[in-house]
Amino acid sequence: MPLLGSAIGCRYRCAMPRTFVSARRPARSGWSMVAGSVALPAFASGLAAPGAVAAPPTVHSVCDISHEFTFYLDGRFHRQYLADHGRDARNWGTLHKLDLSNSNLLVLVGGNDRVPYAEASAEHVADFVERDGGTLLLMIDGGDPMPPGETVARRFGAMPTTDRARPPLKGMAEVPEETEIEFRGGTVLALEDPTAWTVLVEDAGGRPVLAARRAGAGHVIVGSRGLFGQKPDASDPINASWVTPMLVGRAEQKPIDPKLRHRSTSAERSRQVGPLTLEFHEGTEKFAEAIHEVYKEVRPHLVAITGVEPSPGMITSMLMLPTGGGGFSSGRRIAIGAWWGDYPKRRYPMIELIAHEAGHSWVLPHPEPLWNEPIATWLGIETGRRLGFPEAEATIARQIAKAKRHDPSLDAIDPTAPDAHRDVVWGKCYFVFEELERSHGPGAMAKYFQAKRRLVPADRPSYSMDDAVAVWSAAVGEDLFPWFRSLAFDVDRSRTDLATP
Ligand SMILES: [Zn+2]
Repeated sequence: MPLLGSAIGCRYRCAMPRTFVSARRPARSGWSMVAGSVALPAFASGLAAPGAVAAPPTVHSVCDISHEFTFYLDGRFHRQYLADHGRDARNWGTLHKLDLSNSNLLVLVGGNDRVPYAEASAEHVADFVERDGGTLLLMIDGGDPMPPGETVARRFGAMPTTDRARPPLKGMAEVPEETEIEFRGGTVLALEDPTAWTVLVEDAGGRPVLAARRAGAGHVIVGSRGLFGQKPDASDPINASWVTPMLVGRAEQKPIDPKLRHRSTSAERSRQVGPLTLEFHEGTEKFAEAIHEVYKEVRPHLVAITGVEPSPGMITSMLMLPTGGGGFSSGRRIAIGAWWGDYPKRRYPMIELIAHEAGHSWVLPHPEPLWNEPIATWLGIETGRRLGFPEAEATIARQIAKAKRHDPSLDAIDPTAPDAHRDVVWGKCYFVFEELERSHGPGAMAKYFQAKRRLVPADRPSYSMDDAVAVWSAAVGEDLFPWFRSLAFDVDRSRTDLATP
């Protein structure tokens, strides 16, 4: 499932900031992200969204990511449909505790059955709509089992079904009939009292795919997730021509005070375990213990593999993320997809993921050039190898084999070239780490990390591939520039001021 989208260039769709050491403290739930080498626009979810709102905004939206986290809902939905009209905040905490008094649009998704919508949350949403005049958008498709958002849909008399909508879809009522409706697929709705609803989009069989109704003082819009964008780089604003007015026209009917800050809400629960703060909300609390256990198991191996402790000030908190789609890291805080790799049924993927995300906190304050993501995964694989998981060895072998399909002797393609295939980059990086261990081990990676800490001060402005090869050379006591060049890496000792043996 392309949960976090192909734009995130990491096998975990992990994202970590390149600007960690900048004076800007990462907002409590605001993450600058790097996708491959392409920096996604930074956003600050702890603050009002920096949309280019000309007039005072009329919409204060909240995208809920407490039931299912996606990078898309974490800011991109707003950019695609609401940026000209409003500010957005995200809800990371327990939904029924969320203060919606100065918000007029709530965006929910069907979610994952591991994190149900509590009855109290469905009632809180109903109050927001019926009593306070807010607008709810619920993007949901039926499935087996039904996603937990069904609880909210039913509260308003809409039932997702498992019947697939048949294209072409047709606009109804306020959605002009001649509009070409873009659709990524999804299911149709059953409506308890069809006369209460206005169907906005129907399928070729005349069945509702998106419908709206008044509910008390407010509005409810329920329909297929496939009518809206999904890409983490916000490059697919499908149906914006009618989605934006559909949302704004309704939301505006509940006035908000644009002078009051519109802030995101964090996961409100936490538990201190030694130096680490575990962060969760009522629905994700149940994952915290098991995930912390994995971290405790992994941590000593990371120290052994790298020969150093995490960089000072790093990895102080661990956020339970309601997703199977991966994790991310700001160095200080790591966020772990609670059911990544079908955990707890399978353990190896979670060990690799946690070691990967934690590994970034060893790498910082200077992210690695080129292999920032591969080195983190290699740390995860090496941890798995030390713990005796056969999957670890297989993962390395598979990736190196993939690289050899493009570059059979691994001596032809420069992995630092902008157009180098992902498989070449990852496979070659693994090959380098494995070879250095074979020729300069045991503990070659520890020698590298120790040398990096010794030779590269935290305030150094940059850290290039040439710098990294110089550090590797110092670590193993041999000039490795010729060897890296023999593997087609474009590196040059004259481009670094770090001394080489
Ligand atoms: Zn990563």
